[in-house]
Amino acid sequence: MTKLRNYPTKDPVLVTCGLPYASGQMHIGHLRTYVPADVFVRLLKKLQVDVTFVSGSDTHGTPILTISESLGISPKELYTKYHNHYLETFPKLNINFDNYGTTDDKENVDRTLQIVKEWQKNDYIYAKDLETPYCDSCGRSLPDRFVRGTCPHCSVDARGDECDQGCGRYLEPGEILNPRCAICGSPTRPVTRTHYYFKLSEFEGFLKDYLTNVDGTKNAKNFALGWIKEGLNDWCITRDLEWGIPYPGDEDLTIYVWVDAPIHYISSTEQWAKKIKKPKEWEKYWKPGNGRIVNYIGLDIVHHHCIFFPAMLKASGYNLASAIVASGMVKIEGHNFSRGRGYVVWVIEDYLDRGLDPDYLRYYIAAYTSQTKDLDFSWDTFAEKVNNELVATLGNFLYRAVHFTHKHFGEVPKGKFDSKLKKELETAIDTITDAVNEYELKKVADEVLRIAAVGNEYFQSQQPWKLVKEDKKKTGEVLYNALALSKALAIFIEPFLPSAAETIWGQLGNDPTSVHETLLKDALIPPAIGVKLSKPAPVISKIDEELLAELKQIISDRVTTASAAQSGEVELKLAPIKDTITFDDFQKIDLRAGKILKCEKVKGKDRLLKIEVDIGTEKRTMVTGLGHLYKPEELEGLTGLFLVNLEPKKIGGIESHGMILAVERADKEGAWVPVKLDELPPGSKAA
Ligand SMILES: [Zn+2]
Ligand SMILES: [Zn+2]
Repeated sequence: MTKLRNYPTKDPVLVTCGLPYASGQMHIGHLRTYVPADVFVRLLKKLQVDVTFVSGSDTHGTPILTISESLGISPKELYTKYHNHYLETFPKLNINFDNYGTTDDKENVDRTLQIVKEWQKNDYIYAKDLETPYCDSCGRSLPDRFVRGTCPHCSVDARGDECDQGCGRYLEPGEILNPRCAICGSPTRPVTRTHYYFKLSEFEGFLKDYLTNVDGTKNAKNFALGWIKEGLNDWCITRDLEWGIPYPGDEDLTIYVWVDAPIHYISSTEQWAKKIKKPKEWEKYWKPGNGRIVNYIGLDIVHHHCIFFPAMLKASGYNLASAIVASGMVKIEGHNFSRGRGYVVWVIEDYLDRGLDPDYLRYYIAAYTSQTKDLDFSWDTFAEKVNNELVATLGNFLYRAVHFTHKHFGEVPKGKFDSKLKKELETAIDTITDAVNEYELKKVADEVLRIAAVGNEYFQSQQPWKLVKEDKKKTGEVLYNALALSKALAIFIEPFLPSAAETIWGQLGNDPTSVHETLLKDALIPPAIGVKLSKPAPVISKIDEELLAELKQIISDRVTTASAAQSGEVELKLAPIKDTITFDDFQKIDLRAGKILKCEKVKGKDRLLKIEVDIGTEKRTMVTGLGHLYKPEELEGLTGLFLVNLEPKKIGGIESHGMILAVERADKEGAWVPVKLDELPPGSKAA
């Protein structure tokens, strides 16, 4: 049965990539979306599809503002620095956008205002008074990431706009429970102000139909259909924030960052159209017609791309995405990706600056696992994949074929294309095309490796090194076929390994860069007889053992440093529940009530307080990480719960003999306070 395929297509295809926040260095987590999208774009080109590839830097919203404030620079200075970093780094990884702008560009501001005004005109907006948290000590309103509190859906500690540690839901302003200021930790008080709402609830039926039919990966649409089932609330699209695009009609407010961020897909396409001097060309994608749009996103932004964005476009008459492809997240050495805990691999510092080939990283990211699964990055697996798959299977065949032919013939010898080998290539093209239609790049890579293995087997079974001593003409025929497979492989690997493809293409006697313009079907045409071969050299080289050890050490050092920096501090975010301990383990814990006799700041450490505690049997010195929440005098005289048989540990230069236990007390300010055991005399056994 022939499968129904979306690609190849005569329709033009626009591929977009979720925008990185221009607030920090690029790391491997980012590449989980950009690399597959770039490989996909190159594969579409190989299927002769007219394709445009855009993205840009996200420059608005609270993350940019909080980070720029903490650095004492303007939001624009911050985003310019990192926007330039992204702009320079993507091409180094052979990720080539047709346009890469920013959400602060004039085109994006204009397009956002045009769309919001269209909603106002079409009666999709209404004003409503809203209670939002305000921090008196910081003297500001606390939108989105300026506030933390409890998720109303799953009760896990969450940030203001998203349940980032729990259920992953988008949170509306005012929705979070027990809010506290994310900057200074103070409890907040509610203030009332008029905000503007988008009538998202009116789009429930439309979104259900749209998501049921949209192409792409199942993970994105299934999540979103689940949310719709629970019912959609209207969406507050304004923020009381001094950074962003002013809301038309109430300019003290700014437009929510998740309005103008995806609109950049449109304005980035407009910028591209201007660049190619066909200013109307963007309309072939965004105005209703034949153009198709494929959104590549991470699983963390499904809500924005499957709920908000389609409704936004529908309400203003734009074309919608025909496919949404959501990639799984990235783990580092088996751990959830976390900059704070040291589980991070920086693209420049840890990879490119070490002289590692960008192609290898592209290959790992695109070919390691299914697009929808989490990708576990480990240096050992990285080295294994490079050494065993790329070097031993692919590189080995290419080098043997070209090297041997160059040595004995110097050019493409006379021969006839073996029909069995041709059949293998036809199967490969078919399999690769199917995999493109499933957005499964691992299947493409597996098929490419299979052809390399076919090549190795062919070379091995024909034994040209023996044959050349007996029958040069027959040897030429064998090598002709080996080169035909090499040519096909150069075309097949180009989407994953663009630089290696250029090298092998050049060795086969072609203009190296023209490999990027080849089509999948060109793989069926053997190289022209008599074409001079260039001097061959291995295309892919093994990862050096010493370098590998160094790379592993970097992560392990980073994790050690991060955990040392965090010890002694009370983590405000809720960590995942640890492994179950036995009752015996539990009984080893000695918890006692203790009275805090004295409390003072630890010099030079904002978060640390040194406390003198009477635990009944003796007086102890302990160090707590509550300095950012309490003034010393607030803790003095308080009775709390202490872990008293914890091994002594140096924190902030002071030896701490025990630990104060802090829990969240549900008081009306929602503040975090240590357990108070006012009624208990010091030393009482609590567990
Ligand atoms: Zn504050
Ligand atoms: Zn939640």
